[in-house]
Amino acid sequence: TTELHGLTALVTGGASGIGLATAALLAERGADVAVLDLDPSGAPAPLHGFTADVSDDASVRAAVEAAAEALGGIDILVNNAGIGAAGTVEDNPDEQWHRVLDVNVLGIVRTTRAALPFLRASAHAAVVNTCSIAATAGLPQRALYSASKGAVLSLTLAMAADHVREGIRVNCVNPGTVDTPWVGRLLDAAPDPAAERAALNARQPTGRLVTAQEVAAAIAYLASPAAASVTGTALAVDGGMAGL
Ligand code: NAD
Repeated sequence: TTELHGLTALVTGGASGIGLATAALLAERGADVAVLDLDPSGAPAPLHGFTADVSDDASVRAAVEAAAEALGGIDILVNNAGIGAAGTVEDNPDEQWHRVLDVNVLGIVRTTRAALPFLRASAHAAVVNTCSIAATAGLPQRALYSASKGAVLSLTLAMAADHVREGIRVNCVNPGTVDTPWVGRLLDAAPDPAAERAALNARQPTGRLVTAQEVAAAIAYLASPAAASVTGTALAVDGGMAGL
């Protein structure tokens, strides 16, 4: 079943975009859902909000434990918090490499480490990481971001192998270009946002961006009992972009 009644879920970066759509869908399917975010105010009730920075281990541990206490455990962990970076290897100083890898890769390590005792106690434990087609697509002007998501993909496969015998499944989704506030901010920075959006839509094989709800549906499937035999996979939700 893709129903989640009786299950609990924690979604990082759950106050905006893909994370918010995912938290809302998991709740709609019956789960009791907590959101961990720098600013959880974007996630309204019935979602439980917890403030934390995934680049700060102490703050992650405190928020994961508070969330587990509020929910009565954690069955589903969605590691979704992430940040972007544009440019080639010449464009990003070391500090920016450290920052993006700290959030996008180590953020998953810290949150999963804190959640593992609760996941081990669950009969339906599932972790879903938000990766990106950037992990494998060889996108121009995305050296640092792509490297961070390549690491997320490898980490997903390694974690799946490490925890399968404990009954914990680990998968990831690889979104293409998704219509979220993140992409909205990038478009707003262009001289002509409307023209930029039209050009971006035209570059998609489907003629439009992926929606956050479409990515949420893939995450919710991977997190659900319907995917009980699915672990160590990456599910592309990219409107055919990576396949071209
Ligand atoms: P978004 O900016 O709309 O939302 C990201 C959320 O993460 C925000 O609420 C933000 O506060 C939170 N966050 C950021 N840094 C954090 C930190 N250090 N600690 C805790 N929370 C933090 O972005 P989005 O587009 O929904 O992206 C979500 C995920 O999807 C990211 O991992 C991103 O790499 C991935 N992704 C996005 C796209 C896209 O086109 N939008 C494509 C592929 C993958």
